[in-house]
This record gives sequence, C-alpha cells and structure tokens, in this order.
Amino acid sequence: MPEGHTVHRLAAALEQAFGGRRVRTSSPQGRFPEAEQLDGSVLLGAEAVGKHLFLALAPAADVPADSPAVRQVHVHLGLYGSWTFAGEPGFADAHAIGAPRLRMGEREEAHGDGGLDWRRLVPRPTVRLRIAGEHGLADLTGPTACEVLDAQGRQAVLDRLGPDPLREDPDGRARRRFVDAVRRSRTTIGALLMNQQVVAGIGNIYRAELLFRARLDPFVPGRELSAGMCEEMWEDLVALMTYGARTGRIVTTQPAHRDIEARIVERSRGTRQNGDEDPSAVPREKSFYVYHRQTLPCRLCGTTVRSADLAGRTVFWCPRCQRVRRRRAGWTREHPATPWALADPAAQVA
Ligand SMILES: [Zn+2]
Repeated sequence: MPEGHTVHRLAAALEQAFGGRRVRTSSPQGRFPEAEQLDGSVLLGAEAVGKHLFLALAPAADVPADSPAVRQVHVHLGLYGSWTFAGEPGFADAHAIGAPRLRMGEREEAHGDGGLDWRRLVPRPTVRLRIAGEHGLADLTGPTACEVLDAQGRQAVLDRLGPDPLREDPDGRARRRFVDAVRRSRTTIGALLMNQQVVAGIGNIYRAELLFRARLDPFVPGRELSAGMCEEMWEDLVALMTYGARTGRIVTTQPAHRDIEARIVERSRGTRQNGDEDPSAVPREKSFYVYHRQTLPCRLCGTTVRSADLAGRTVFWCPRCQRVRRRRAGWTREHPATPWALADPAAQVA
C-alpha cells in the first residue's frame, strides 16, 4: 500500500499536470459513472491528507473553493490502486509516482521516432478514472475508493483522520494530538501507529522503521510512553516522511549502517520502491533497518530480526535494540541525534 508520502507526491503531480485547467474525465471501466458529469470541469487543485487524495473540480476556474459548485473526487488507493501518467516530455516526469511498481503496460501506440503518443493510448479496461489534459493524461486503476463528495462529505473523511505529519503544523497542534492519542491508549504502540485516527499516512514500512529508530518495543502500550518520547517519535516521522515526499523513497538507515552486512547478500524480498531503477538512489536492501529483514542480523547488534502479526500487518523488530518499554528515564539511545541524519549526497541530487 502506498504510504502517505506517495499520496502527497501524487497530489503535487496531479496539480502540476492539470491544476487550473479544463480536463476531460472518463471511466473506461465504467465503475465511476460520475466521470461523465465531471467531464470538461476545471481542476482547481489536488490535496493529500494522509493516504486520502481529493481533486477539486468546478465548472470554471474562477469558482471559489468553498462554492457548492465544487465537486470533490475522493480517491484512496488501498492495497492495489495506482496512477499511471503519460504525456509530452516534461509532463510524464511524474509517470512513476503512485505505483510502488513502475507501470509500463500501455505502450500500444508509438511515434515514428519511437516515442510515445499519449493521445492515442488505449486505456486498459481496468481504468476506473482517466483524466486527460492538454499535455498528458493520468489513469487510475484499482482504488479502494473513487467517489464524488461535496464539502460536507470531504469534511466527514477528514474528521475520521488523525494528524498528518506532512501537513504544516506551525503551532504544534498536530503533534499534540498525536502525543495525546498515543498516551491515552492501552493499545500497543505498534497497533496505534497503523491506526489512521492516531496518525494519518503511516504504513507498514514507516511503522517498523520508526519503532526501530526509537529503540521502542512494538508491543508496549501507548499509555506507558512518556510525552517526550512520543514527541520525538513525531518529529522523527516528520523528518522521514518529508524526505520520502521529496525523493519518493523511504530511506531510514544512516549511511554508516548500510554496508555492515557486506558478507550477506540481501534479497529484495518482494519490496519495491519508486526509484529502484535509479542507480544514484540508496538501494532498497540498504534502505531499512528491520522492514522485511526478518531472519537477517540486525544492522547494529547482529541479533536476528523478528517478525510477528500486529494490527493485521506484519511488524518487524530487533528484540535486542528495541527493548525500550516505557519511561524516558530508561531510554538511552546508542546512536544520538534526532532526527537522524538522512543526508545521502547521492540521493539528494534531484
Ligand atoms: Zn539490534
């Protein structure tokens, strides 16, 4: 499932591609019949909240954002959804965003020069929503939700969501909401981090890696954690997800910890990320401390990384490094500095 940083990148890409312009909308699959009524609307903007995406469409560009004439297309990708972009050079820079796996399946038509004529792309029959503009198109397949909402409907979705670490938080309100929600709960921190009402946008990778970086046992109840520990976790999450939103990749390892297992050949284990094809990116198998590294030795202490089911998804952790169970007093971090340096010169060139 795409995590929140991917949805934020998608919103930015859609806004860049179609923002302020009239678009053609259709549903080749037929399962989003509202596309017909929206056809010819102007895309006022695209917004991400957690893993939810909202596309604001209106009859004209000068319709105020709060007008009842604005329709909100609400999209949640769920486990299998993705967006595929195609268009003129420049437009298609976004084509890898949104799908953990690069989708390249639509090259039925080509120019004489071998290039792609996006205008003649025949949509796959599974395309729920196609948005086409002057310079390119975006196809949505396999979402959990694709529906039209009014302002009240949009607000109802937002009301069910906790704070999103990728949204501005100048007065610290979002952080306080997160800290309070965690500390009120008897539920394990590993389960709380997957609860979108506690924090919006985290998926299974960020959960496992955040807990490792905090040295925190995933099975500790939220109410046993100190406010300071929760605040630092929030700040770390903001740093990690901001990096993810900027680069499209989740990288949580410090450079010094990436090569310590040189004698072990790590297999990819089915995890894919945007940017895998980019030779300057931190390779996937070096990007994580514990995610999908069960049965491999911990990068820091050599103990075998474990996995177990927690809140319906597999959690990964090092039983030796992640022994922090409660109060800040007992919390000593072997490797200081929060947020950890994510700086990787090669990864930040873009
Ligand atoms: Zn360890």
